[in-house]
Amino acid sequence: MSAASAWSVALAGLDGTMVEVEASVTSGLPCTVLVGLPDTALNESRDRCRAAASSLGIGWPMERLTINLTPASLPKTGSHYDLAIMAAVLCTSGKVPLQVVKQAVLVGEIGLDGRVRRVNGVLPAVLAARRAGRALVIVPMAQVAEARLITGVEVWGVASVADLMEALHGRPPEIVDVPAAAPVVVEAAHRPDLADVNGQPEGRWALEVAAAGGHHIFFQGPPGVGKTMLAERLSTLLPPLAPDEALQVSALHSLAGEPLDDLITTPPYFAPHHNATMAAMVGGGSRLAKPGAISLAHRGVLFLDEVPEYSVRVIESLRTPLESGWVSVARAQGVVRYPARFQLVMGANPCPCGMYGVGSACRCQPMQIRRYNERLSAPILDRVDIHQRLSAPRRAFVEANDERPESSAVVAQRVAEARERQRHRLAGTGWSLNAEVPGHYLRKVLAPKAGRQLLETALAKGRVSARGVDKAIRLAWTLADLAGLSEIGTEQVAAALSLNRAEWLVAA
Ligand SMILES: [Zn+2]
Repeated sequence: MSAASAWSVALAGLDGTMVEVEASVTSGLPCTVLVGLPDTALNESRDRCRAAASSLGIGWPMERLTINLTPASLPKTGSHYDLAIMAAVLCTSGKVPLQVVKQAVLVGEIGLDGRVRRVNGVLPAVLAARRAGRALVIVPMAQVAEARLITGVEVWGVASVADLMEALHGRPPEIVDVPAAAPVVVEAAHRPDLADVNGQPEGRWALEVAAAGGHHIFFQGPPGVGKTMLAERLSTLLPPLAPDEALQVSALHSLAGEPLDDLITTPPYFAPHHNATMAAMVGGGSRLAKPGAISLAHRGVLFLDEVPEYSVRVIESLRTPLESGWVSVARAQGVVRYPARFQLVMGANPCPCGMYGVGSACRCQPMQIRRYNERLSAPILDRVDIHQRLSAPRRAFVEANDERPESSAVVAQRVAEARERQRHRLAGTGWSLNAEVPGHYLRKVLAPKAGRQLLETALAKGRVSARGVDKAIRLAWTLADLAGLSEIGTEQVAAALSLNRAEWLVAA
């Protein structure tokens, strides 16, 4: 009998655990048995490796081969165990020495022709290897750049089983096709900018306030007023990601199978279509559970345009992530958790035809309009601090001498300063943005000294709910932070009340 072990990683969400892949040959009829809680994809792994070995003429043990994955209690899924299985089998049959096999952590899929294919989640897998104190990883050649985003681990790339055999003999193949310095400059040139948005001063202002305080925002207005244009630009007003955030966001995108040549350092923007399935929205899918849109928007912006068109189930699925910043995806093999702390931007027409409020163009029945707006559930709207109505531009042409609107960089500077004030004020509370502060703390500790009468009147007249008062205080603080004030004034309270004109909905 002979046996050898190689190492790979089991991924559950962003967490990875080292998995030992042990191959042992015992006398008996030729067969290959896989044990240790493998899923269907892993059984395919065994078949792929055997087929690749025979097509390359390197042979497969002609006795009873047992491949055991430990810890056995850990569910294992995905096709990335191929490299480790192949390494263990090659080692068992004496085709490669044990030296490299026992040190390296292997992640990659093998095609029937012996080529090594890309897999999802290389970044979190390498991160897990580093955490486990491993010094060497072997990944698909095409993903060397991604693996190298994790410092402190040596990365070897293999493009084929032949490469793998060379590497396991201690002769790592030369790295090819690793992109040179990241094309960040090109990307920056194509990034949307607030300077592209002409007119729409209310929309621009609401966006700046949302960015400054981390508030969710709801834009309502007829088609073509620029809801999407504004939403796309929110992420350009947010500060760049901190190093640990960049790593987490990049790992999520790696799990979704996006090619990564550089860490994602700017807040992502994600706009799933209203036909998006639950799996596309919150995560899931067969095999390795992929993060959904809400996790791909983690630390960035999630835009839902035409929000009444989304299924009620999809909208309701946002509730828990909006509260906790996490989403749980149920799998056959257990629950996977992904981070999902995003800033929500919703867009909607004022009525099914979209023309309500535009002259007398709307032909919708009042009942239709009410039903359309009722599709937005109160628990979601409760979390949205800013409710901005957008109307069609009043001028058909922009005059040549009009000043170019402020750029994202200028606004982002004010946003950064306002955020700094919040961090300072909220130090030690566990919150860093006004949007995160719960109602009881706002009313007890951060109640405004000025403008109380305005709030009392609005509440008494039924123009705002009790929750609406909380939202107004939250927004008034953000407005004060943007104005560089250390206290809320009457002006901020009045402006805050007008930034959440929920009555516009009710009026419909
Ligand atoms: Zn209408």
